[in-house]
Amino acid sequence: MPPIPGSGLAKGLAVTLRTMTKRTVTAQYPDVQPELPPRTRGVIGLFEENCTVCMLCARECPDWCIYIDSHKETTPPAAPGGRERSRNVLDRFAIDFALCMYCGICIEVCPFDALFWSPEFEYAETDIHELTHERDKLREWMWTVPEPPALDPGAEEPKEIAAARKTADKLQAQEEREAQEAREARDAQGPAEDRSDRAAGQEGQE
Ligand code: SF4
Ligand code: SF4
Repeated sequence: MPPIPGSGLAKGLAVTLRTMTKRTVTAQYPDVQPELPPRTRGVIGLFEENCTVCMLCARECPDWCIYIDSHKETTPPAAPGGRERSRNVLDRFAIDFALCMYCGICIEVCPFDALFWSPEFEYAETDIHELTHERDKLREWMWTVPEPPALDPGAEEPKEIAAARKTADKLQAQEEREAQEAREARDAQGPAEDRSDRAAGQEGQE
């Protein structure tokens, strides 16, 4: 059967009409920033205070693109007669994002929560060497790391928060005890000083 004249045009117009009424999926980046999921793997941030230089992340990285340098320092014993302690001090922590394959293994294996994903992705460079981010830059990414999702209602309190609360309670109790002792010492001194002042006054009159 021969095609009806103008049917092709009608079909084309129908497709155009259908497409016009659909929601657009074109992202107008960079004029409009994309809405990324909170767990996006953009760049890695380093929370240096948590890093103990255990080297686990560097050893497990399949691309060998984490560079860590450190030295040992000894600290005096906490109590007389105790032993000196040695600890690792971080000298360099860098990640080469030109090599990184964003597998997340380093973040997974870090036992001290020192590495985090940030959704930031705008760090393209014209010089490949600039893609090696040193510790200062890795720290700056930390401020772009989203907050962790809220705990399920009824979930057990994280052990870090329980430990921090216990320490805060202990410090507060210690402060209150010291303040009380200081008050008692002041009260004990007060009447004695009054008596000596009165005695000095009487001697002056005589
Ligand atoms: S994400 Fe993977 S490849 Fe990148 S630094 Fe971490 S372990 Fe290495
Ligand atoms: S695994 Fe964590 S604590 Fe150990 S060196 Fe890497 S970032 Fe630091």
